[in-house]
Amino acid sequence: MFDSLVRFVREQYGTQDFIPLHAPVFAGNEQKYLADTIVSTFVSSVGAFVDRFEHDMQAYTGSARAVATVNGTAALHVALLLAGVKPGELVITQSLTFVATCNAITYCGAQPVFVDVDRETLGLSPVALEAWLEQEAVIDADGVCRLRSDGRVVRACLPMHTFGHPVALDELMSVCSQWGLALVEDAAESLGSTYKGRHTGTFGLIGTLSFNGNKVITTGGGGMLLTNAELGARAKHLTTTAKQPHPFEFVHDEVGFNYRLPNLNAALGCAQLEQLDGFLAAKRELALNYQQELLASDLQFVVEPHECRSNYWLNAVICQDRGHRDALLEATNGAGVMTRPIWALMNRLPAFKECLKGDLSNAEWLEARVVNLPSSVPSRQAS
Ligand SMILES: *Cc1c(COP(=O)(O)O)cnc(C)c1O
Repeated sequence: MFDSLVRFVREQYGTQDFIPLHAPVFAGNEQKYLADTIVSTFVSSVGAFVDRFEHDMQAYTGSARAVATVNGTAALHVALLLAGVKPGELVITQSLTFVATCNAITYCGAQPVFVDVDRETLGLSPVALEAWLEQEAVIDADGVCRLRSDGRVVRACLPMHTFGHPVALDELMSVCSQWGLALVEDAAESLGSTYKGRHTGTFGLIGTLSFNGNKVITTGGGGMLLTNAELGARAKHLTTTAKQPHPFEFVHDEVGFNYRLPNLNAALGCAQLEQLDGFLAAKRELALNYQQELLASDLQFVVEPHECRSNYWLNAVICQDRGHRDALLEATNGAGVMTRPIWALMNRLPAFKECLKGDLSNAEWLEARVVNLPSSVPSRQAS
């Protein structure tokens, strides 16, 4: 039943071997830059590649400031702290996301609230967000958004650009500003994706990226905050043990974090970023090929939202129903072509099952149907 899909994927990658979901491609200056760090002995918390990686990423995304971190989860943690999230408060996010989004909220002592996603973007729905706020929240005399039921503060909203497809940012920004919510974007999956011509992660107060091994580009492990100059300076301070500059004294003016990205990892990032445009072009071509191949099938290929350009990090299809989904997963994985279902909804996990939530019909509908297809940059196109 899925023989032609398996054959098609094998053609894209030109191999009869196992095909992973997303493997990194190292076809540029990776070895050279890594060797440079070793020769210089600056492999750790000090080194020129960290500054260069941050500057290159500022230039690439158009963000006023970029601050590198040890991983994307750490970037999210610090982003939420800088957005003012405090213990006992609430952060609205989508239940259809990777667990790191909710873990970062929990690290702040706050709790996630789950609101539905749109079927078109796979990300947080501005309509569902507004409906939940109107039913459950009020704005107090100080302009702070609070739960009607027990007065808890709703501090921030954390949408995620699923598989690289941008959420409806204009509409979300408008609801957030009306309700006094800080907007933080989890752009871990959307490096290279734009909304109305501007890079994702640069619309909210802060946006965060991830350079984990399975993302569009990798530093082994790594992440980044994108924000304004002032919050960027705060982020740098907080992620580097809150040490005040001094020629020799150790002065740490608050409890900080050791979240900085080692120079070794930043070197890999600089080499990867040089190839990003080529990766994106190859991924777009692959996505287009999938789209055409599946046109006449009963699998619906997920395309970039209107007025957006997606990085097509992970290609996705929507199956007819759960049985169809299971058959696809069994046939492809059994044939050595790796496919995966979308994440289980966060409100089903033990850590988050007591959290507040709105109607999640679209998230549940997608949870039963979405499958990711192999999405690595085909290596014959990489160089
Ligand atoms: C990858 C990812 C992160 C961050 O992951 P790290 O492995 O900590 O870099 C956060 N949110 C989402 C949605 C992700 O996909």
